[in-house]
Amino acid sequence: MADVVVLGAGLGGTLMAYELVPQLRDGDTLTLINDGKHYHFVPSNPWVAVGWRERKHLEIDLEDIMRRKGVRLLPQGAERVFPKENRIALRDGSSVQYDYLVIATGPDLAFDEIPGFGPEAHTQSICHIDHAEQAWQGFQEFCKNPGPIIIGAAPGASCFGPAYEFAYIVDRELSRRKMRDRVPMTFVTPEPYIGHLGLDGVGDTKGLMESEFRERHIKWITNARVTAVGEHSVTVEEVDEDGKLRKTHELPSGYTMLLPAFRGVAAVRGIDGLSNPRGMIIVDQHQANPTFQNVFAIGVCVAIPPTGPTPVPVGVPKTGFMIESMVTATAHNIGALLRGQAPREQATWNAVCLADFGNGGVAFVAQPQIPPRNFNWSGRGTWVHFAKVAFEKYFLHKVRTGNAETMAEKVMLRVLNVAKLKETKFDPV
Ligand code: FAD
Repeated sequence: MADVVVLGAGLGGTLMAYELVPQLRDGDTLTLINDGKHYHFVPSNPWVAVGWRERKHLEIDLEDIMRRKGVRLLPQGAERVFPKENRIALRDGSSVQYDYLVIATGPDLAFDEIPGFGPEAHTQSICHIDHAEQAWQGFQEFCKNPGPIIIGAAPGASCFGPAYEFAYIVDRELSRRKMRDRVPMTFVTPEPYIGHLGLDGVGDTKGLMESEFRERHIKWITNARVTAVGEHSVTVEEVDEDGKLRKTHELPSGYTMLLPAFRGVAAVRGIDGLSNPRGMIIVDQHQANPTFQNVFAIGVCVAIPPTGPTPVPVGVPKTGFMIESMVTATAHNIGALLRGQAPREQATWNAVCLADFGNGGVAFVAQPQIPPRNFNWSGRGTWVHFAKVAFEKYFLHKVRTGNAETMAEKVMLRVLNVAKLKETKFDPV
């Protein structure tokens, strides 16, 4: 009999637990280790930061749900993974042994890489529900005494969609409050062009995102390296295509929100063979670590190289559907191993993304997410906003009911011809 452990109960880890349950044999155990007993729907954090959602709308207590599914939930968090010993040391001093481990710890937010950066210094963040709540407090204060706003991402960031979303919805909220005319807005990004998204664009995201910025009078600086943040200013070095300094901007700011670069969490960082120099988990085509073959990884914690060189470092985003495809492949592969078979499934890493603007949005489909692609599409319209709201409700329903993929979702994905698993299977070497 085997003990299977999932580390991290975010978007990937929670679904991972649900998809693993039917793979277990009688007598196998499944344990989910998390920092706390709550699930938070991260994609709605930008709405929290402008007061369109509250924590209670996005937070789910996992205790009862996991008990019902026969999953042991350990909320004390992991201190360190010891893959050579098949052991995880927990923060309360206890240890958990495993036969198979799935790491789903998401990102550690690298605020310390820039002076003055982060919610404990001078910038707001939307990466965690606590930060988004703080950003909402900051936004209300800002509205009493408006000034310039800087939104964007730090060098090495990989998650650009939420930064764009936040710029558009802040614009929308300020217009709604009839204050937009008093707020110059600038988008600052390491991307070489607007709409690159860490993916060298998808369809015409360059044209669509730029045009939205022009229509909303949001100025932008690309190839931007934020080097310092003060209480009321952001220092940005703009470089040319060879990476040479072109101009240093001292931008005044009354409210700053920048997405940080991500790295692996401390519990998995600096483990030879397991994680790369940024602490992200190295995986093969079956989501398994090549050195420790009983360790799998899914979600933001997975190491993926950039799509290509850029003057300022730009990472690759790990989007929700892409993560779900990693989950499905991993569940099947662990199921196969439990039955004495070799892992065969490969995730498609396809992406289906909705960037909300409050009254519209941009959607894209990328198959696979990383170019070159078999299929590429982007479009915009009011429908995107409603689709994003529907997605939020649907995803929270999945987590509450413990159902990783409903029949309706299966049918819709078939209609859209978007798959989670690759059809071509290769025998492992
Ligand atoms: P997370 O959801 O971050 O979960 C990680 C979990 O691991 C957390 O519960 C954490 O507490 C736990 N953990 C960490 N360290 C430990 C430890 N030591 N011990 C125990 N537990 C630990 N993608 C989309 O496709 N669409 C979107 O609209 C979208 N919006 C986004 C908005 C924002 C603001 C951000 C930051 C990302 C967004 N993404 C979006 C990208 C991605 O889908 C999310 O980041 C998603 O939450 C990633 O899932 P994950 O499981 O990898 O990590």
